[in-house]
Amino acid sequence: MKISVNKAHFPVTVLGPGRRIAIWLQGCSIGCKGCVSQDTWVRDPGRDMRVAQLLAWCRQTSAGDFDGVTISGGEPFDQPQALGALLDGLRQWRTQGGPDFDILCYSGYPLATLQKKHAQLLGKLDALIPEPFVDKLALTHVWRGSANQPLVLLSERGRSRYAAFVDAATSGEAKRMQAMVDGNRVWYVGIPARGDMAALEASCKKSGLEFSQASWRS
Ligand code: SF4
Repeated sequence: MKISVNKAHFPVTVLGPGRRIAIWLQGCSIGCKGCVSQDTWVRDPGRDMRVAQLLAWCRQTSAGDFDGVTISGGEPFDQPQALGALLDGLRQWRTQGGPDFDILCYSGYPLATLQKKHAQLLGKLDALIPEPFVDKLALTHVWRGSANQPLVLLSERGRSRYAAFVDAATSGEAKRMQAMVDGNRVWYVGIPARGDMAALEASCKKSGLEFSQASWRS
């Protein structure tokens, strides 16, 4: 089974509790206005890899010492078979003596749509952040980009790990972002507030650093 992947990174500490493996899938058919991940929109066969390869990378890079997996995008539910295979592989690892990690997934589809079309996939997750990003709604809650996006708890593990965060406001530590450098590319990971990326770009420009391409600009 092939899965289209934009990037993956470990450790990520700004998209869910603890030290996490984060996987961004490639391809999104939703196209929310103001999306900061526009580099993930186009389906690109050049980014396909085997799910088994991705699972092997997860095992190798984390050495089993981590708290959770965050799957984002792009739109993970635009690749339902591949997402199912990835979730099956992660759950198998967990049940066969792997670490006690949780699985959090983002989606831009409404919760009702996911419940209707992808109930089986939801049953494989511990927590979900659904609903499209709405630029005109403020960033209010931890790990969410706009105020319409709930944190939905889908398992016992999800309830025990995430209950305290359902209504938690974005403030202080929760506002952190991570930066990673890969060759001549810089990845910013986390949930920026409105205007943060433009402010960062302007500030870097003053220091002589210009971004030739930026995922938050079309
Ligand atoms: S915010 Fe998410 S769902 Fe919306 S366009 Fe961007 S990647 Fe797609």
